[in-house]
Amino acid sequence: MSTLQYLDIHTHRRHPHPEAVSVACLSVDELLVESTPSSYTSAGVHPWWTEDYTSAEIEGFKRHIESLLQKERLWGIGETGIDRAYPEFLELQLSLFHWHLDLSERHALPLIIHSVRAGSDFLQILKEKKPKSPWIFHDFRGNEALMRDLLRLHPETYFSFGISIDNSPQIRELLPLVPLANLFLETDEQKHLDIHDIYLRAAHHLDVDVGLLKSQTWANFRKMTKKFH
Ligand SMILES: [Zn+2]
Repeated sequence: MSTLQYLDIHTHRRHPHPEAVSVACLSVDELLVESTPSSYTSAGVHPWWTEDYTSAEIEGFKRHIESLLQKERLWGIGETGIDRAYPEFLELQLSLFHWHLDLSERHALPLIIHSVRAGSDFLQILKEKKPKSPWIFHDFRGNEALMRDLLRLHPETYFSFGISIDNSPQIRELLPLVPLANLFLETDEQKHLDIHDIYLRAAHHLDVDVGLLKSQTWANFRKMTKKFH
């Protein structure tokens, strides 16, 4: 059994598994006080926040993200993205996504992406912008064709899975097709599943050892963690 810790690439929870290292995605409150609750932190304007906050508040969030970047306290940018379940905010989400994308390119930091029914939007953006920084689709819900198109346009694309391994037959079918070199696991907002359980379930569906999954996700992480190693 490997003694490596579990790597949780995307979480909003603040009570991680004692044997886990997490990339903490900042809440609004944490962002406003520029808290960095983990040695690895990501910050972004979540696409859902476009519904809940005024444009002045969103401008404030952006200033705090820029300040954290200047102080070199961020491991990654996001989560950001496009959620087509909120079509009335699509234009604002798109312009915010481009703002985050530009930051991730200028600072050479990974971009953590929330995508709901927006696969073709991201393919279009990849064709136009040809980014170099890694893209991590958290809670990826696309199919095999989308995964392969994304990888063809941007080989530094990663796919992260969590609760969907349990509740989505489509994701259980996709999981063995994802190259291990492009795979991450996450808890996101799960209260009833911890990262240990998610590694166990993924290892079961992939028919591999948990230790192998840990060493592979750490290798993927180190590859993109230039500033910290
Ligand atoms: Zn999230």
